Amino acid sequence: MVFAANTHSRFYHLVEVEMRTAKTLCGLSVAMIIEPEPCSAALHLVSEQPPEYILCNHCYRLTGAEAAKVKAASAAGQACGAFIPSPLPELG
Ligand SMILES: [Zn+2]
Repeated sequence: MVFAANTHSRFYHLVEVEMRTAKTLCGLSVAMIIEPEPCSAALHLVSEQPPEYILCNHCYRLTGAEAAKVKAASAAGQACGAFIPSPLPELG
């Protein structure tokens, strides 16, 4: 997986490179330029995950990372009973 970013935002994206085109998982087109770190050009490839950048939410979802996280959270909830609803106290 390759990363794409520029200095216009503090988000980086994950990129699937095919032949001569590159697109982020979330559907943005990426210039086929590889820089060591994000610069102010159009969204382009960076050779390493840019530090202090946050993964774009859409790319994050599309990696399935969130699905895995939800599964783990639900398993943990079952283990400690966190998801058992408690009755609401009656007011008045
Ligand atoms: Zn993205």
